[in-house]
Order: sequence, then structure tokens, then C-alpha cells
Amino acid sequence: MYCRNCGKEINEKAVLCVHCGKSTGVPIGNENNNVKNANDEASVGLLVLSVLFPIIGFIIGAVCISIGAMNAGKKYIKFAAVSFGICFLISFIWYLLWTGNTYGF
Ligand SMILES: [Zn+2]
Repeated sequence: MYCRNCGKEINEKAVLCVHCGKSTGVPIGNENNNVKNANDEASVGLLVLSVLFPIIGFIIGAVCISIGAMNAGKKYIKFAAVSFGICFLISFIWYLLWTGNTYGF
């Protein structure tokens, strides 16, 4: 196509004329790109949260094992391990419920 300002030949998809620098009036397509980016960002956000929740569960589990160890003493490390297991299960179920709600299962 040709520039509307200077009349020189330019690329069909060019947004700005390479000769005079004026806008060619070609739509940049920002709307489509923005929608796509917004969806991508939302997906990334969900992915990050999906990864964060098990980590939070693990931290909760680690806190539980500490509390279990403090309460029961080192002789009863099994109790701590059970506490960790229970806490981890609860956080994992919580995580599953959370992702289930998010994706509308
Ligand atoms: Zn031009």
C-alpha cells in the first residue's frame, strides 16, 4: 500500500510510514492483544496460586510438625509426623476444594 501522507510505498501491515513517520491508519489490533494478554495473565495468576497453595500447605505442615515436636517432645517424633500428615492432608483437601471452586467443578 501507499502512505496517505507522503504517497511512498510501505508495508501493508505498517502502522507508521517508514519514510515520513506518520500513522498509516492501520489498526494496531490492541484490543485483541489486550484481551489475549488479560487471559494469559489470569491463567498465570491461577497457575501461580495453584503452585502456591501446596507450598502454603507444606508450610502449614512444617508449622504443625514444629508444634507437634514442641508439645510431644523428641521421643514422640511419630506424633509430630502424624500431625504433619494430618495438616498436610487438610491443606491438600483445602487446595483441591479451592481449585475445584475456581474452575467450577
Ligand atoms: Zn509517508
